[in-house]
This record gives sequence, structure tokens and C-alpha cells, in this order.
Amino acid sequence: MGNNPEDIKPSSLLELESTDKALLLPRLDPAKVTSPEEGMVVYDTTSDKFKIYNGSSWIASAGESIYNDDGTIFGDRTVTFSGAGEYMVADSSRQLFVYNSLTSKKEVFTPILEGYVGMYVCGPTVYSNVHLGNVRTFVSFDMIFRYLKFLGYKVRYVRNITDAGHLENDADEGEDRIVKKARLEQIEPMEVVQYYTLDFHNIMRKFNCLPPSIEPTATGHIIEQIEIIEKILENGLAYEVNGSVYFDVLKFNETKKYGKLSNRKVEELIHNTRALEGQSDKKNPQDFALWKKAEPQHVMRWVSPWSQGFPGWHLECTAMSTKYLGKSFDIHGGGMDLKFPHHECEIAQAEASNGTSPVGYWIHTNMLTLNGKKMAKSTGNNILPTDLFTGNTPLLQKEFSPSVVRFFMMQAHYRSILDFGNEALLASEKGYKRLMDALNLLNRLTPSQSSSIDVKGWECSCYNAMNDDFNTPILIAQLFEGVKYINWIEEGQQEISEEDLQILKSTMNSFVFEVLGLTKEQQDNSYSTKLEGVLKILINLRNEARLNKDYALSDKIRDELSVLGIQVKDLKKGIIYTLD
Ligand SMILES: [Zn+2]
Repeated sequence: MGNNPEDIKPSSLLELESTDKALLLPRLDPAKVTSPEEGMVVYDTTSDKFKIYNGSSWIASAGESIYNDDGTIFGDRTVTFSGAGEYMVADSSRQLFVYNSLTSKKEVFTPILEGYVGMYVCGPTVYSNVHLGNVRTFVSFDMIFRYLKFLGYKVRYVRNITDAGHLENDADEGEDRIVKKARLEQIEPMEVVQYYTLDFHNIMRKFNCLPPSIEPTATGHIIEQIEIIEKILENGLAYEVNGSVYFDVLKFNETKKYGKLSNRKVEELIHNTRALEGQSDKKNPQDFALWKKAEPQHVMRWVSPWSQGFPGWHLECTAMSTKYLGKSFDIHGGGMDLKFPHHECEIAQAEASNGTSPVGYWIHTNMLTLNGKKMAKSTGNNILPTDLFTGNTPLLQKEFSPSVVRFFMMQAHYRSILDFGNEALLASEKGYKRLMDALNLLNRLTPSQSSSIDVKGWECSCYNAMNDDFNTPILIAQLFEGVKYINWIEEGQQEISEEDLQILKSTMNSFVFEVLGLTKEQQDNSYSTKLEGVLKILINLRNEARLNKDYALSDKIRDELSVLGIQVKDLKKGIIYTLD
């Protein structure tokens, strides 16, 4: 399919709650529109451009190009008009486009080896309960992992566990986070690691995240890390001082570019780096540790050619990604707070040891806020994932199931800030229920001879949404189009052929369960089945009453069910009931 008018579908989150903002972009010659309204958007067939009516004339969208929401030009697939929602244009190629943080552009996704994808995501440092913001990152990459698999790629997904070397202030000074926790709790560091790794896995399971293909640990790869340091030293891009080894950023920057991912210039870094106490070992403050000599009280230590010590935090990811995915691999992901210094250092280490640029596509997830503010324990504006499931927090009115929370997360694009809050979660819960109700209804639909709705076009829109940099909010808007279809067909307003019904079923089910990773809530089936039986008895009694012209009784049954939130409707084809 090409740019047919039917392909040009509205897609906006607003569509979830109201249809008044849902516009269909007409494809025509704007000169032939007799009385255009200000703000009207069309696809101009004479110029093959989007045009907007500004009240007196048709103007092109800025610069006559089609822009991404971040201002970059993006082919002819996506168009955004500020204040008028986001509109997506269908693409027949079904190519996957990925926003690459390294180039700040959406690019066609082409893996190094056809059919295979190597993906590395920085995992948690296991010294405390997993933070909700991190959960968002891992749920986002789970969705990406699922979609790549769904497209037929064989994906090797590596997500590490940081169990050593991550110091308190993300820099090269301060206490190791795990060692500190162990000291405070008077237990072994590995007990801390074990406890919080299990906690992390539990939470991931609750959110229906698939386990990664490999989940390596930093402490399990000390030898590989030492080997990388040796290579970087050999290449003259690191130096040893008093048993510690530091990466020489200035030297590296003479031939390569340090700071290209986070768009930082080395000169500015020098200016901005405060000389902290204890950094005197470094030649320059922007250098970072590859190996640190352990202080006498530091219990997590390993033998190396330089000293008994431990690896720098950034090194483990270079070691493990190289070992399991190769010197160059397709996707590296993490939260955007890791861009600098962590990922910047990873690039430098890989280039300094292997001579190759390690990653094809850098993907970063945005942060998470709570009631519009940064989450922080100190201000009380803080929620743990388990608080969401128990409702045991003053910030929420009630508990929410992991599936509802996951659905809520998917309603925002992974590159947008996601704001958690009671009202938003309540709205998501309603939306989730509507979606699940429709999926239940889907199995009961009966096909007709032909279709009155364009199911194939709709299916294409679902793919287009995900192919546009994993745009889950637009996908969800499309899934609610599907919900509309299901209800129309059920109510007899529209018809669907057997073939289209199969497409509707498989598309709804695969995108909801396989790609978005939502699950049906656990229900006591025997109980709910019995209650449904009771409801059928009542509805039959009401039918009998109507046949006997006992309208007082039939109305009483209908009204009392209505009070309970069960709506009974009399349609030509029979009686249906819906739950509020
Ligand atoms: Zn990492």
C-alpha cells in the first residue's frame, strides 16, 4: 500500500479518551476545498506535501519538509504539527526505523548480520530495591526485544548485573555501593548481591519481562576486564599510577572523538570537572579509572598485574558486550542518564582496545517523574514498584496490577518523559479493561460474507506505529481502533469476513500480548463463569417477562442490573449486555 487517503490515519493519545481530536487527513488538491477551516491539514496531491490552512491561505509545514517531533527531517513518513496532534503516514516498505542517539536521527534499522540482532542493555547495580525509573527502562527494552523477535529476528539480548565496581557518586571516588550496603547491614557483599538480584528478577517477572538471553555479572568477568586494560595500555591510551590504571582521555581525543554520544567537547569537560580530593593520581580530571587499587578496608578485591583492586565501573559493559556480542554489535541501550559518562566511556574503551566503533544504534530511554517531579527519597516523592501493586503509599488511592502499570508505561513513547500519578494510572486501568473486554468479545464474533471495514489497512497501521521507532502510544491508539471495530461488529453496525476476522484476531492478540507484553489479569474463572451463568438466568427471566407482556418486571430487572453497572441492550439480533 502507498499513500492512499485511507492510509493516512490519525494517531494521537487524545484518541484514547475522546474522538473529537481524531482527524483523518484528506488527500486532495487544497485549491478545491471550498471553505477550509483554520488549522485544517491535508495531504496536497499536487505537490505531494502536507499543507495546513492558516486562515487565509494554504501553507506548507515548516520549510516544506516533514519533520520529526525533535525537529529533524524525516523522509515522508511522519508529520507533526504542533498543537494539532501527531499524524502518521503509512509506509508500504514495513521498514523498521530506530532513533539513534549517536546521530540524533531516525535511521533504517539494518543489523550487521541479516536476520540476527545483538542487543546489550546496562542492567541494575544490585545494592537496593530496583528503582521505578530503571523498571521503565527494562520494560521498554523488553518491548523492543519482543518486537524484534516478533519481526522474525533472532535476537541475542545481553543485560548485565553490576555486582562490583560501581562507586557511590558514579565517579572514581567514594565507597563501592555494594560494599557500603554490606557494611551497614553487617553482611557479606555477595549476600547483598544475591538478595537484590532476586528482588530485581521478581519485579521483572511481575512486569512480564522476558529474561535476557545472557545475564552476565561484573565479578564473573574480571579476567576479560584485565585483558581489555592490557590492550588499552599497549595502545598507549592508558597509564598506571600507584597501582591504579586510568584512561587517558586527552591522548585518545588526539585521534578519536571523546564525547560524541553526549555532544560534549573535551575542552569543556576540563573546564567543568572539579578537582576532587584524591584525584591527584590522574593526569587530568576528565580521565577515568580502568582499575583501582583497593584501600585496605575494601573487601571486594582481585589480583591484577597492577595491584589488588577492582575494575572501574564502565569497563564491565565493554568486556561483557565484546565477549558475547562481538567487537561491533547492533543495539546498545540504557537510561539516558547513562549517556555520560558511562556510555561515552564504553565507546572510548572499545575504540581504544579494539579500534572499532562498538555500536550501530544507541537507544536511550527517557526518565520517569512522579506527579510532575523528580522521584527522590529525601522529599518523599518516591514509589517502589511493589508499592504500586499493594497500594501501600499515600501517593496512590488504590493498588494497580503489574499489567495495568505496564500498559500505562506503554502509553508513553520510550523517549518521552513518563509521569506517574494516581489519576493517570486510574485512567490507564479503565483503558486496559476496555482493551481486555474487547479481546474477550473478539472470540465470540461471528463472520459475515464480506467486510465493511478495512482490516488490512488497520493491520498495516499497527506495524507502521511500531516501525516508527517503537511508537507504542500510536500502536495503542490503533489497538483502540480495533476495539471500536470489535464493538461495532458485536452490535451489528459493521460486518467482517472470515478472512478479516482472522487478521483482526491475530493482530490484536499478537500486538497486545506478544509485543506489548500485556497479560490477562488472573481471575477466579470458576467464580466469574458461575456469575455469568446467573446473569444469563436473569436475562432469560426478563425475556420471559417481556413475552408475557409483564413490562413492569422486565424493566425492574433491567434497571436493577443497570444500578450494578450491567447494561442490557435490546438489539435486532438479540440481547447484549456490557459491564461498566
Ligand atoms: Zn553499562
